[in-house]
Amino acid sequence: MSAGASGQEETAARVKALESMLIEKGVVTSSMVDRIVDIYENQVGPQLGAKVVAKVWIDNDFRHRLLDNAAEACRELGIGGLQGEDMVVLEDTDEVHHAIVCTLCSCYPWPVLGLPPNWYKDPQYRARIVREPRKVLADDFGFNVADSVEIRIWDSSSEMRYWVLPQRPAGTDGWSEEQLAALVTRDSMIGVGPVKAAS
Ligand code: FE
Repeated sequence: MSAGASGQEETAARVKALESMLIEKGVVTSSMVDRIVDIYENQVGPQLGAKVVAKVWIDNDFRHRLLDNAAEACRELGIGGLQGEDMVVLEDTDEVHHAIVCTLCSCYPWPVLGLPPNWYKDPQYRARIVREPRKVLADDFGFNVADSVEIRIWDSSSEMRYWVLPQRPAGTDGWSEEQLAALVTRDSMIGVGPVKAAS
């Protein structure tokens, strides 16, 4: 597989060709395609994942349901759809920190995180996060995981898409779900960054 800008251009050209063909054959209309792009660029995004995480932090029964069957629990909040049919949520603890990758391509839980950032699709990230996770998190993301904490990397696929449930930050007792959701970053649900600190 080709890398970098030329790889992206090639992919874009292939997608464009496929789109034209599907429109020509009457499988989809141009406005259907525009609508789907709009949904995943503007409406579905990490704010939805943040909502799920905040609910987990205040509702332990929901936490169990999410860890048991993420897709089903997300549907309770009206969150679901394309590329989220089979999701597994990995819970960070004091002992273990999780991070996700798709070593093969760019599988990612769209309904809760939106479309993947470009670096997630970068062959460098995909190869290195598996080989030297602690170093990649520190060097590329400025995210230092304590040596006492084990780092586990999860390789997503089209069958199974992982994402991370970060730990609730200290100093947030009594906070509302909305206040908590504002602390949850996209990167914390990928596992490459922290949640925001309570202030
Ligand atoms: Fe993939």
